[in-house]
Amino acid sequence: MNSDILQTPIDYLKGVGPNRADLLRKELGIHTYQDLLSLFPNRYLDKTQYYKINQLQNNASEVQVIGKIVHLKMVEQKRGKRLIATFIDDTGQMELVWFRGHKWIKESLKLNTPYVVFGKTNAFNGVFSMPHPEMELLTEHEKSLRSAMQPVYPSTEKLTNKGITNRVINKIMQQLFIETKGKFIETLAEPILHELKLIPKNAAMFNIHFPKSQELLYKAQYRLKFEELFYIQLQLIAKNLTRKQKIKGFNFDQVGTYFTNFYKNHLPFELTNAQKRVIKEIRNDLGSNAQMNRLLQGDVGSGKTIVALMCMLLAIDNNFQACLMAPTEILATQHYQGIAELIAPLGLQIKLLTGSTKTAERRAIHEALENGELHIIIGTHALLEDKVQFKNLGLAIIDEQHRFGVAQRSKLWHKNDIPPHILVMTATPIPRTLAMSLYGDLDISVIDELPPGRKPIKTVHRYDSNRLKVLRFIRDEIEKGRQVYIVYPLIQESEKMDYKDLMDGYASLERDFPKPKHQISIVHGQMKPADKDYEMERFVNGETQIMVATTVIEVGVNVPNASVMIIESAERFGLSQLHQLRGRVGRGAEQSFCILMTGHKLSNDSKTRLETMCATNDGFEIAEVDLKLRGPGDIMGTQQSGVLNLKIADIVKDNDILKTARYYAMQTLKEDPSLAAPHNQIVKYTFSKIVKNKTIWNYIS
Ligand code: ADP
Ligand code: MG
Repeated sequence: MNSDILQTPIDYLKGVGPNRADLLRKELGIHTYQDLLSLFPNRYLDKTQYYKINQLQNNASEVQVIGKIVHLKMVEQKRGKRLIATFIDDTGQMELVWFRGHKWIKESLKLNTPYVVFGKTNAFNGVFSMPHPEMELLTEHEKSLRSAMQPVYPSTEKLTNKGITNRVINKIMQQLFIETKGKFIETLAEPILHELKLIPKNAAMFNIHFPKSQELLYKAQYRLKFEELFYIQLQLIAKNLTRKQKIKGFNFDQVGTYFTNFYKNHLPFELTNAQKRVIKEIRNDLGSNAQMNRLLQGDVGSGKTIVALMCMLLAIDNNFQACLMAPTEILATQHYQGIAELIAPLGLQIKLLTGSTKTAERRAIHEALENGELHIIIGTHALLEDKVQFKNLGLAIIDEQHRFGVAQRSKLWHKNDIPPHILVMTATPIPRTLAMSLYGDLDISVIDELPPGRKPIKTVHRYDSNRLKVLRFIRDEIEKGRQVYIVYPLIQESEKMDYKDLMDGYASLERDFPKPKHQISIVHGQMKPADKDYEMERFVNGETQIMVATTVIEVGVNVPNASVMIIESAERFGLSQLHQLRGRVGRGAEQSFCILMTGHKLSNDSKTRLETMCATNDGFEIAEVDLKLRGPGDIMGTQQSGVLNLKIADIVKDNDILKTARYYAMQTLKEDPSLAAPHNQIVKYTFSKIVKNKTIWNYIS
């Protein structure tokens, strides 16, 4: 089969025509035969089963029943007429109901004649009814040899309204198979097909659209999911390999005095084994002649900062500069203060650059970066400005990756002729499966161990009606010298109300915890940065005991003496956000607590989130639940969700297939990096077409 026929515009398919073609393009993005072929059904109606009326269940979805109509009547109601048929089989009776088109339906229905009806059932007062069923005479039904599994294609309201029903899509799909003779070019290499016992492309395409049996449908799905994931992984892995081969990186071959001196004499604590392992992994990369692009994952509080610092010292030992970029000013400032203090004995030059750095200072920093006087620069987005030029940037570290887009990462790349090594740190654990797909072109290191001596945070869920008890608890903790965070939700859609809640909450706290005995800080997005910083600082210094805030404090801040985190309207937060917020406490030696406050009305998802939070402190476990609740697109935000716009595979559910696909993609490239072997010509061809058509999204810089 000539593959070019699949590039034919959809207008040319018999039965489509310009109007329908237009709708298919606009509503489903179907431009070519190929696009139509890749419109995979969402689900299949199982028409292999026939139900008896006494087998119907309250929650039955679509069912098929054989019986006959014994009675027809019109019923007048306030909202209009409806036609009701009494339908019986040898086990009982039910109703078929029509709200529209009564006349011709009534005329066409035959009494006391066996029918096969198909549709969704409702139960009311113990009587089942099926509105607007699909009807077919049993004699016709037995004659027609349709596939038992009927595909249901993705659709839109507009398509249905314009008459492009599922049946129509089915018809044009049949036409597509007629015109192409159902012959498609194989896209997977013979050895893989053989080893995994995958069915050939033609059989897969046929059975995904016209399944002959449940078993063949399953095989078709498996093969097509595998194919989709295989090519995504192939692309990611190939990219990674190319980078390692082609893009030379700075070689940090020396472990010099700064690193060693710091490690031997100034490390404030013993590193955990996980920290040591990760530093080793990074050192290997840095000394490998290739540019490093590594993702460092570690739960909140796992100690990523010290790892970042040690890597920066390695860069400096090899006569390079290093930078650390954080998403917020507060966080950048904290990193700066912490790191400057740690390396004070080393005599290195380190500065902070943020949006609020004064012009004169800013100029001085620009100059010192360019002439190489500065060893380390820590900052916010301000580091990305074109004016910021380095003498020799060797390592760029990005903290809390999820706040930065891909574009920003690539901006850092271009600060030198040779790109610096890049280390991306994230505290929002991404389940491995997702990381593989999103960051398949990055290498991944994981800190899977918390520093010793941490007491797990105790998390409880309390209803608003128990507020008095909670207040008493807060008072007791403050008496013991602890500090408390109280966080309110703030989302754009309900911003006004949310601010009111925040300010009301603040006012009532001021009554419950009066001055001068108690001091309360407040931080929210409508404040000037300077005021925010002032309030934040008072809390950090222990001058205030309570910090009332919106989620601006979510990321990174470190106040070890704060041991209580109260989250108001906790049902409105996402799981990973709750986990991040909770991570603000539990940083000191004291037992810490997280109290999730909610009203009594909770959705099932909210309940799951709250229960998960109370049950575990493990960020990876939480991320897995989050992924299941929200789906992958949501987790990464709309910006990156396109990546997961898979046609048939599901990253969560098809985890195992993903792993297999990744393994085979890796093997393929390992054994035959340029895809030169005869059996890989198919792969090479398919791959080049995918890259050319950008059918697989060009995700990462
Ligand atoms: P995160 O991974 O969330 O960025 P940090 O780097 O801020 O975590 O570390 C959290 C806290 O744990 C800091 O106060 C840090 O000094 C401390 N810490 C980090 N590593 C260790 C360790 N190996 N032993 C003891 N404390 C550590
Ligand atoms: Mg951190």
